[in-house]
Amino acid sequence: MAYLASPSATLEIIKKYDFAFQKKFGQNFLIDANIVSSIVEAADITKDDVVLEIGPGIGTMTQYLCESAKQVIAVEIDKMLIPILSETLADYDNVEVINKDVLKLDLEEIANKYNEGKPIKVVANLPYYITTPIVMELLSGKTSIDSITIMVQKEVAERMQANPGTKDYGALSLAVSYYATAKVMLTVAANCFMPRPNVDSSVIKLTAHNESPVDVVDDKEMFKIIRASFNQRRKTLVNGLKNSADLSYSKEEIVDAINAIGKDERIRGEKLSLEEFAMLTNALINNRG
Ligand code: SAM
Repeated sequence: MAYLASPSATLEIIKKYDFAFQKKFGQNFLIDANIVSSIVEAADITKDDVVLEIGPGIGTMTQYLCESAKQVIAVEIDKMLIPILSETLADYDNVEVINKDVLKLDLEEIANKYNEGKPIKVVANLPYYITTPIVMELLSGKTSIDSITIMVQKEVAERMQANPGTKDYGALSLAVSYYATAKVMLTVAANCFMPRPNVDSSVIKLTAHNESPVDVVDDKEMFKIIRASFNQRRKTLVNGLKNSADLSYSKEEIVDAINAIGKDERIRGEKLSLEEFAMLTNALINNRG
């Protein structure tokens, strides 16, 4: 099978199978061989690696991944693509295609089944309509993941790397910095895809931390606090936490905890760093005893 990473090879397959692009699945296929090899290079894949590819499409990047990795697991939601992938990946015996929604995938089971429980690498040109849920799911399954190299909207890559106090800073920035180190590897123009998306894209690599960068007694509680702080961005931190249905702290407990970490009670959540959210969580939990 010839490589698919060109407009002509992609069109040939699309026509042969009378395939109709599904907007609801975020289908924008890569048609540029240089970009595909740069993504695989950025992911630093070797013959020791088990790779999970989310959304292989017609198998354009999967072909390159199969040549670099020990084993590729490609999870694709669209059943119309499964017969196409059987043809385009027929030359490779180290790939397994799973017809499933990636959000329903058990990452630990994949790591156990294919990599003796050792962390796997994730590589994907992500469907943009569910980037954040997928990234949050992958990050919180941290013990099963070594690194995540993904194409996302340029704005989402900026949110992932944003600093406290900036307009892009939010729960996603904090989740990324808690679990991983983020680095933008390349930016990709819309004409590298078929059909062209309306946005610019970036490839970002998230490398999982070996050790947590902050000490927090309960990280699930910290993320509830973080979400509550950003749900009502215009409100003060006290009001955001007090009004959250997921939390049960009184105004007095919240003010005490904010003061205990040396902050003014009128502060907004968007000003706090990851370390300060960890300290705030510890103060709220410890004050309760
Ligand atoms: N990897 C291919 C490429 O680069 O040419 C396709 C990328 S396209 C942006 C996103 C792919 O993810 C599509 O094939 C789409 O059907 C698939 N997809 C969308 N939602 C999914 C989900 N929840 N689980 C698994 N795959 C999904």
